[in-house]
Amino acid sequence: MFARYSSSLTRSAAQSYRRFQSTLVVAEHNNDTLNAATASAVTAAKKLGGDVTVLVVGTKVGPVSEAAAKLDGVAKVLVAEGDAFKGLLAESVTPLVVATQEQFKFTHILAGATAFGKAVLPRIAAKLDVSPISDIIGVQSADTFVRTIYAGNAIQTLKSKDPVKVITVRGTNFEPAASAGSGAAVEKAPAGDFASKTTEFVSQELTKSDRPSLTAAKIIISGGRGMKSGDNFKMLYDLADKWGAAVGASRAAVDAGYVPNDLQIGQTGKIVAPELYVAIGISGAIQHLAGMKDSKTIVAINKDPEAPIFQVSDYGLVADLFKAVPEINEKC
Ligand SMILES: Cc1cc2nc3c(=O)[nH]c(=O)nc-3n(C[C@H](O)[C@H](O)[C@H](O)COP(=O)(O)OP(=O)(O)OC[C@H]3O[C@@H](n4cnc5c(N)ncnc54)[C@H](O)[C@@H]3O)c2cc1C
Repeated sequence: MFARYSSSLTRSAAQSYRRFQSTLVVAEHNNDTLNAATASAVTAAKKLGGDVTVLVVGTKVGPVSEAAAKLDGVAKVLVAEGDAFKGLLAESVTPLVVATQEQFKFTHILAGATAFGKAVLPRIAAKLDVSPISDIIGVQSADTFVRTIYAGNAIQTLKSKDPVKVITVRGTNFEPAASAGSGAAVEKAPAGDFASKTTEFVSQELTKSDRPSLTAAKIIISGGRGMKSGDNFKMLYDLADKWGAAVGASRAAVDAGYVPNDLQIGQTGKIVAPELYVAIGISGAIQHLAGMKDSKTIVAINKDPEAPIFQVSDYGLVADLFKAVPEINEKC
């Protein structure tokens, strides 16, 4: 009798524990500003229905942790600051997140599906012995998520039975949380020796640009192999400067050395969904469409009327880009 009573007690305690969701969002930043992907991950976290904590880690996190504390829906910010986190290496961020998880027992751990999130979260999942869930585009419930597969050609709804859900979030599908909160409590994350013994951050080369970043831009002008050379991209940069747009590219244009590879849009590049996407001299291969077909309006300029890009474009111009683009540049 007693045994039955105590086991039902334990079961109901476990059930109510399971019902209480709490989510950790691992923030991404450059010491000055919080990445927009983090604000989108907070929006996804809010849909899970529990408390949202943001972990800000880095060498200098003051301004960024303040920004994280103001994000709408954030209940707490944990900060970890130190030289060990130079370059935000996955090898040093992971043991910190695992130590944080040991202390707070979150039900969900989220980050943006950026190069940072993609490097760190699967490593955390392996350490926690759960299966990571990549690049979600929707939250149906605390254990059921939507993501795309086969280069965006099928939508998969998956239910996770893991005790902790480790998830990367596709930023274009979640409006970034507004900076409207009253300021969440800021506390210290667990301390420890998190310096990586195996890797070291040496240096970075960032592409300098005054144009908006690709993933945040409302307008993107993209060039493909049809541009023929890197010099010809000047036409696109001129147009982008007039329109306040970002410039992107196909993988063929990147592989040919016309532009650096952080401009690549597609399955193996960036996923974007601006208001307006202009594809110039791009055929519309499935791997390119995977990165841009959720754009609100798509315009294509291509001299080949059979190019697959015309199947997804709202407006298409069958023309030689070397005539059409200078003409647009003159008129706009
Ligand atoms: C595993 C894998 C991952 C990949 N990931 C990506 C990815 O992330 N992003 C990506 O983009 N690709 C990716 N690719 C490559 C993809 O398959 C295509 O090869 C690539 O997108 C083609 O780029 P493109 O359209 O610029 O070149 P092309 O297919 O060569 O098309 C060039 C287009 O320009 C047009 N054109 C030429 N001259 C002119 C002119 N004067 N005026 C007007 N139009 C002109 C042509 O008619 C043609 O349609 C991937 C491939 C693989 C196998």
